[in-house]
Amino acid sequence: MSEPIASSLLGMDREELAALVLEAEQPGYRAKQIMDAVYRQRVESLAEISTLPQEFRERLAEGGVSVGAARIEKKFSSVDGTVRYLIGFGDGQSVETVWMPEGDGGEAGDGSEAGAEAEGSGAGLPAAEAAVSLSPAYGAAGSHALSKQGKRTAASGRSTICISSQVGCAVDCQFCLTALLGVKRNLTAGEIVGQVCAVLKDQGVSPPEDRINLVFMGMGEPFLNYENFIKASRLLVEGVGIAERRMTVSTAGIVPRIRDFGEEKIRPKLAISLNASNDELRTRLMPLNKKWNLEMLMAVAREFPLRTREWITFEYVLLGGVNDLAENAKEVAELLRGLRCKVNLIALNPGPGIEFTTPSTDRVTAFQNILRGAGIPAFVRRPRGRDIYAACGQLKRTVEVATSPELQLQAISPLAPEG
Ligand code: SAH
Repeated sequence: MSEPIASSLLGMDREELAALVLEAEQPGYRAKQIMDAVYRQRVESLAEISTLPQEFRERLAEGGVSVGAARIEKKFSSVDGTVRYLIGFGDGQSVETVWMPEGDGGEAGDGSEAGAEAEGSGAGLPAAEAAVSLSPAYGAAGSHALSKQGKRTAASGRSTICISSQVGCAVDCQFCLTALLGVKRNLTAGEIVGQVCAVLKDQGVSPPEDRINLVFMGMGEPFLNYENFIKASRLLVEGVGIAERRMTVSTAGIVPRIRDFGEEKIRPKLAISLNASNDELRTRLMPLNKKWNLEMLMAVAREFPLRTREWITFEYVLLGGVNDLAENAKEVAELLRGLRCKVNLIALNPGPGIEFTTPSTDRVTAFQNILRGAGIPAFVRRPRGRDIYAACGQLKRTVEVATSPELQLQAISPLAPEG
């Protein structure tokens, strides 16, 4: 996998900027000025960095240095307020980034509130009731997120940005559309952070004043692009100003990297895609289970050095008649017994080429109740932006939306790209 040459300011950390400034024989404080301009102000060109002398900017440009801002190529808006961005990079590759206003039942980085919210509002509607997600019927969260006209009121809530870590994905989960792309390349740290900068700018919001949650749950497996992902996490905290506790990374279960991740000084919270209750089933759904099976996965999860008031989130995609039976729920409860964790249940988001079906609401609730009965906090994640292919497992750079009758039914307003 080839990666573009790093000549972008976006992606450089304090030390690298200090070295750049030193080499140009500029005073040391210029590094902080660049840091501020790129990550806080989120400039898109050297010309916009007005704190730097013109001559220095010209020298940078002559040396092939640019800001390296990500470009929004297309933008699709869902009737539920979710926005899916197609974001392009210098080499013509693109990824998807999703904006979810006012958080989400389980995708919010600060899961305690997200969980409580999902519980209180009865959120988490599987496909059969997905049409309901078009109306502001989500208890407290929904009712202040949407005005009577169905418009977003303020950017004051807890919005969530879902970012990608790779172009495509190599993990081959059988229920995920991203898998169909294969993996094209890793994103650089600058490209990961660039998605966030582009979306914040487009939405007109700015952390820390605006509460922004961030999830590494878009395209790709973050732990197969570990170094860049970690560097991006640090830049998001130190540069962009996103609170560490509001970031969550999800992994399909790259066991050795989960261990490394526990050692990091600055790191998001951990989510693990479990998706099956025994090895046979998990290997069928997620072939990587052959390499890192449930015993290895649960061992590393049990050893994971959790911080105060931190827990591990386990995601479980429910596939009708496949992994959603009562016995599966009991096996999951057994696997997770004694772990400081919670479970986010996701009813399958459908897509072309995906052979599985979405279970009924009753099945989802029954599964949730078994886990809760066993003392495991379990929440149902409300699908977001299914009509524009923005929901979990639907990211494959689709440029046409709402082609299937089911998705069209959910889409009650025109879905033409905006950008
Ligand atoms: N590669 C990482 C990051 C992606 S997170 C990981 O696997 O964790 C995306 C989440 O969506 C994962 O928990 C995944 O299991 C889930 N998912 C994938 N396809 C889905 C689908 N079709 N419907 C619902 N959830 C899905």
